[in-house]
Amino acid sequence: MPSPTDALANLPLRDDLVGLHPYGAPQLDVPILLNVNENTFGVPADVHSAIVEAVSAATQGLNRYPDREFTELRANLARYLGHGLGPDQLWAANGSNEVLQQVLQAFGGPGRTAIGFPPTYSMYPLLASGTGTRYVTAPRGAAFSMTPDDTARAVRESGANIVFLCSPNNPTGTALELGVIEAAYDAGEDARAIIVVDEAYGEFAQEGTPSALSLLPGRPRLLVSRTMSKAFALAGARLGYLAAAPEISDALRLVRLPYHLSAITQAAANAALTHADTLLSNVEAIKVQRDRIVAELTSLGLSPAPSDANFVFFSGLEDPRRIWEGLLAAGVLIRDVGIPGSLRVTAGTEEETTVFLSTLRTLL
Ligand SMILES: *Cc1c(COP(=O)(O)O)cnc(C)c1O
Repeated sequence: MPSPTDALANLPLRDDLVGLHPYGAPQLDVPILLNVNENTFGVPADVHSAIVEAVSAATQGLNRYPDREFTELRANLARYLGHGLGPDQLWAANGSNEVLQQVLQAFGGPGRTAIGFPPTYSMYPLLASGTGTRYVTAPRGAAFSMTPDDTARAVRESGANIVFLCSPNNPTGTALELGVIEAAYDAGEDARAIIVVDEAYGEFAQEGTPSALSLLPGRPRLLVSRTMSKAFALAGARLGYLAAAPEISDALRLVRLPYHLSAITQAAANAALTHADTLLSNVEAIKVQRDRIVAELTSLGLSPAPSDANFVFFSGLEDPRRIWEGLLAAGVLIRDVGIPGSLRVTAGTEEETTVFLSTLRTLL
């Protein structure tokens, strides 16, 4: 029997996919899951019943294809985001990963280049390779910071067609100042670069951190991507979206699969959005735990990065592997993002966070 790897090697896989590894955060059966930045508070009871009711109604019509234009969903998303956005400025897909893939399909592809600023979201290079887009990187400054000047230079020198700016950044947690986004946009003028600001964690930002949504007027190449996976506690529903100029939706219509958002997905997302307030009620509680983690890690002599997200990236560990394994043995799964001396932990409920912090203290 050939091993699965040998069997894969015998397939006529595209040359540019040979040797690549799929996205693979471990999915282990552990009591306390703080590794993929999910909302660990669960779905509030009234949101749960609203979703069940809406999905049940949608099920009656499953013999028909869903609304290809997800009209109601776009109106609900526009209302939720505010900033004077209209429904024609919203687009959605099965997770913001699918939104980003569609952006690459429409604006990237063979002969085109996307640029990212690592350490950043590990899916950007994978989505690029899946669409035959060349992926290049530019370094960050001290403590993973980005400045308007350095960013503009990297965008200009790369000639990139697509620029990925993750704010708040995963895995480091810190938001970008709007000046960095404006500089990237202006520097991309010649190449008419699409600037994607990935705000998957936008709702968790510190008080006073502005959203790139405020930069949309007058910037037709700027795309702000969001998700219901994190703040909205709906990672399992798969609903991501973006806000941009209306013509961006026209471009994405060319590459999306017909009826890509199922009637069930649309019903669940619409029901959830009509309860946005309850859905977001746990965000403040998560921010409290996030700030508590930063404070306690600091008092343990570690170096947590300032976080605008629902997770904390921390450095100063002599042996991160030993800490990661020790936590796992105690039933706490966090994330080794492959940066020397560092780990990343999601802010959980108060109880989960307490177990994480007390186990870590013992291990240190
Ligand atoms: C979690 C995450 C997403 C969300 O992906 P979905 O497909 O919407 O679940 C997007 N971008 C970043 C940086 C993330 O960390």
